[in-house]
Amino acid sequence: MLGQSLLASGLKWQKLERVYMPFMEYEAVIGLEVHVQLKTRSKMFTRAPYSFGHEPNTLTDPVVLGMPGVLPVMNHEAVHKAAALGVLLGCEIAPRCKWDRKNYFYPDSPKNYQISQFDQPLCLGGSVEIEMEGPSRNVMGAHRHVQLTRIHLEEDVGKLTHFTNDSLVDYNRAGAPLCEIVTEPDMHSADEVFAFMTAIRNAIVSAGLSDCDMEKGQMRCDANISVRPVGETKLGTKVELKNMNTISGVRNAVAYEIKRQVFAKKNNTEVIVQETRRWDPVQQVTQSMRMKEESHDYRYFPDPDLMPVEISTEVLQKIRAELPELPFDRQRRYMESYDLPYTLTSVLCPDYELSVFFEAALAATKGKGEPKAVANYICNELLRDLTAAEGEGRAPLAESVITPAHIGELVALIHDNVISKQIAKDVWAEMSHSGLMPATIVEEKGLKQEQGDSGELEALVAATVADPKFAKAIGQYKDGNDKALNSLMGPIMKATQGKANPAQIVEMLKKAVDGA
Ligand code: ADP
Ligand code: MG
Repeated sequence: MLGQSLLASGLKWQKLERVYMPFMEYEAVIGLEVHVQLKTRSKMFTRAPYSFGHEPNTLTDPVVLGMPGVLPVMNHEAVHKAAALGVLLGCEIAPRCKWDRKNYFYPDSPKNYQISQFDQPLCLGGSVEIEMEGPSRNVMGAHRHVQLTRIHLEEDVGKLTHFTNDSLVDYNRAGAPLCEIVTEPDMHSADEVFAFMTAIRNAIVSAGLSDCDMEKGQMRCDANISVRPVGETKLGTKVELKNMNTISGVRNAVAYEIKRQVFAKKNNTEVIVQETRRWDPVQQVTQSMRMKEESHDYRYFPDPDLMPVEISTEVLQKIRAELPELPFDRQRRYMESYDLPYTLTSVLCPDYELSVFFEAALAATKGKGEPKAVANYICNELLRDLTAAEGEGRAPLAESVITPAHIGELVALIHDNVISKQIAKDVWAEMSHSGLMPATIVEEKGLKQEQGDSGELEALVAATVADPKFAKAIGQYKDGNDKALNSLMGPIMKATQGKANPAQIVEMLKKAVDGA
C-alpha cells in the first residue's frame, strides 16, 4: 500500500495524515467515562434523601445549597457501595483515598465546587467482561474484557433546563452519590461500546448498587473518541461526546462520530480538535459545544472539611461475601450445571431478579422436572404475560400473580404425569388469572390425566388402530416412520378431553399396531 511504502521511506504517520489520502485505513479508539448514581438512602455528604421524579428543589438542605458554615459528613453506605462496585469489577481497592475539591463556577453547583476524588481514587484497574452480538440470537457472541483505569466517588450536581430566554435549576440531584467509572482507551467500535454499556449496567443492577436507568439520569456516559491510521500506536486527538441518554443513543452517537472523524481525515476537510461535542438525538449528528477544559483549570485541592477514607480488610471481606456473581459467570454456571441452552440463559442471566425467580422455581419443583422446563415457562409463558400486561415494556416481576412456587409445582405435576403439557396450558391460564396453585386447579377442575390401565383407553386405542382412516399412517409407521403414529393421537386426545398421557398413548398405540 502507498501509505505503508511512504512510511518505509521514513515519513511519520503524523506527516502522512496531513496529505489527501482517501486510501488510508483508520481505526477508532474509544474510552468511556460512565457515571452511575448509587442507590443509597441519603446524599453523599448530608442526610437529605435523593430519588428521581420529585417536585424540583424539595430534596435539598443547607449542605446541598452550600450555605455558610455548613460541614459535609461522609455517607458510609455510599463509600461501601462504591467499594462493592470496585470489588465486583475486579479493581484494586485503595487502602486509603481522599476527597478533593474540583472548583468551577456554574449554576448547577451552588457551592462553586464539587467534592470529588482527584489523584487518589477509591478503585484502581479492573475490567468489564463484554459479549459481542453473535451471528444469530441463538448463538453466543465473542467475549472479551475491557480494561478500566479507575473508579472514583463524587457528588452529583443539579440539573439545568434551558429555554429560549431563561434557564431553570433543580438542586434535587445535587449531592447525590455518583461513581465515575473510567475505562482505558480500549474499545474500537460503536458495537463494543454498546456491549460495554449493556454489560456494566447488567452487572451493577444485578448487584443492587444502582438501577442504572439512563432515562432517569441514574447512568450517564461520556464517550471519548479518536481515530488513527491502522498500525499507528500513538493516540489521536480525542473528542468527548455528551448528552446520550439511552444505550442505543450512545451506540449511534459513537458510530456517527467515528464516521465524521474518519471522513475528515481521509478527505482532509477539517482538522479534528480536542473539544466537547453534544449528540443531537433528533438530527442524529454531533455538534460542537465547547473546547475541552484541562484538569488544571479546576484547581483541584484536598477538601479541608473531610478526612481521608480508609476501608478495612474486614469491611472488604464482608462486601465481597455479600456480592452476587457477575451475570456472565451466572450464565456459564447455568449452561454447565443446568444444561440450559444459550438462548434461555441469555434471557435469564442478565436480569438478576429473573435468575433469582428461576432458581426459586427450580427449588420448588423439589427435584421433579428439568431446569429447562422451568426456564422455558419463565422465558416464554411468564415473560409473554408480563409483557402483554403492560402493553409496552415489561410489568414488574414482583407484581406477577405467578410466583416461583406456581411454576415449580406445575413442572412437577407434568413430571409426575399428573397432567399433560396440553392440560398445563389450561392450568397456566387459570392460575395467571386467579393465582390459585396448580395442584388446587387440577383437583378442583378434575384435570388429572387418566392412567392407562382403564379398559376404556385401551378400547379407544384399539378402535382407532382398526379405523380404516388411519390405515395409511399405520402402513408408514410399519415402514419405519415412527412419527406417522402422531396422526392417531389427535382423535384419542380429543376423545379423552386431553386428559390422557400422550407418552402412554404412544406406547399403547405402538403395542396395538405391532401386536396386530
Ligand atoms: P481528560 O483528562 O481529558 O478527561 P482522561 O485522560 O481523564 O482525559 O481520559 C478520559 C477518558 O478518555 C478515558 O476513558 C480515556 O480512556 C479516554 N481517552 C483518553 N485519551 C483518548 C484518546 N486519544 N482517544 C480515545 N479515548 C481517549
Ligand atoms: Mg476525565
